[in-house]
Amino acid sequence: MDKKRLYELIDARNREFEAISDFVWEHPETCFMEKESTQCQLEQMKQEGFKITTPVAGMDTAFIAEFGSGRPIIGILGENDALPGQSQEADAVCQKAITPGGNGHACGHNLLGTGAMQAACGLKAFMQEKGISGTIRYILTPAEEGGGGKCFMARAHVFDDLDAILAWHPNSSNCIGNRSKACVTFNISYHGKAAHASAAPWDGIGALDAAELANTGLQYLRAHVTPDVRLNSAYVDAGGQAPNVIQSHTKVTYCLRADRQSTVEELYRKVLDIARGACLMTGATMDKPFTFNNYLDQVDNPTLDRVMLANMHEVYPLSFTDEEKRYAAQFVPYGSTPDAKEPIDTSVCDDLDIPAAGSSDVGDASYCAPTVQAFLVTEAAGTVAHSWCRTAQGKSSVAKKGMHAAAKVLAGTALDLLLDPQLIKKARADYEKNMEGRTYSTLLPDSLKPGDHKY
Ligand SMILES: [Zn+2]
Repeated sequence: MDKKRLYELIDARNREFEAISDFVWEHPETCFMEKESTQCQLEQMKQEGFKITTPVAGMDTAFIAEFGSGRPIIGILGENDALPGQSQEADAVCQKAITPGGNGHACGHNLLGTGAMQAACGLKAFMQEKGISGTIRYILTPAEEGGGGKCFMARAHVFDDLDAILAWHPNSSNCIGNRSKACVTFNISYHGKAAHASAAPWDGIGALDAAELANTGLQYLRAHVTPDVRLNSAYVDAGGQAPNVIQSHTKVTYCLRADRQSTVEELYRKVLDIARGACLMTGATMDKPFTFNNYLDQVDNPTLDRVMLANMHEVYPLSFTDEEKRYAAQFVPYGSTPDAKEPIDTSVCDDLDIPAAGSSDVGDASYCAPTVQAFLVTEAAGTVAHSWCRTAQGKSSVAKKGMHAAAKVLAGTALDLLLDPQLIKKARADYEKNMEGRTYSTLLPDSLKPGDHKY
């Protein structure tokens, strides 16, 4: 079906959704505290006539906005959380916080959630105009940056009845993002016995010694893992600042990643053995690990990848004005490709085999239903995610053009699926094949509730 009219309906609302995106950018809220951002988006969807369900899976800052009836049921994912310490003035081409140490939208989720909403609203209008049946659900998923709203939703079976899940993420190049690493994050607290480090060190048990020996063990483990594995740690509590004290307590956060959840589960067991070994060597003890994050790897769906890629080719390349190009060019030197030929990448990458880089809770959703995700340009070439450069560009006309284009890619992909039951069948077959008999399972303890962990 010709999508010209769908795109018109989306573009007719550009200014309204830009205002929502700006509001979210101006109210950067993190990890299950997205109160104002969520309220603003929820009110909009209510006014649009969507049926609202909130809270979702125990999360007050989550909601589902549904339109239509019957199958297929297409889910469009949204996020709206910010990052701590990433406050930055809009358009400033140097690091300049609005609030020193404050939150900022350094991952572009103000655009992510709003663009997904714009897609759902445009699609709704088009379905009503053309009498197209099926169900669309905009699912606002909180706390992608560390809290993992989608993990709690997956655990509560929120995605299970969906025929397809569509997602996008702001980026500095246009491509399909069909891979992400599984990742588990957990704290271990070590306990020793304080003593004077010179007068009576023999009376002490070094909790810091245990933590450091465990990190040495982690180093040796690095030499015996597959190339996809990443093993990282951070001291949350090094035990104190005085070197003349035997530290009685330390706490370390471990973050283990691999291309598959099964590898992460194996690494998890090995690192716990290492930590126990370190305790044995030092006489320290350790608490049961507090596991607060487990993002699963993304299950690829080649059928949906191809449908979304075709939709990207229908929407791109976007045209940018000379002023927008000059604007973006200022940020290029700070990015990962400072010698980029064009200040804004307008090409579409057709490679469907790009290796996984980071992790996302979209992976958890992909274990529950056929899932596809696009990374779409909203910023200067090479802009680094989770940096002041992305926060700075979040209200620019480049970002907004990218957001409207993302709405068209999502709505167009959903429309293709609504109109072609064969695509839904093929996507389901891909899902069954690539799940390889696995079912959703997580290292998160059943007792963990959203918001139990705060950084
Ligand atoms: Zn993000």
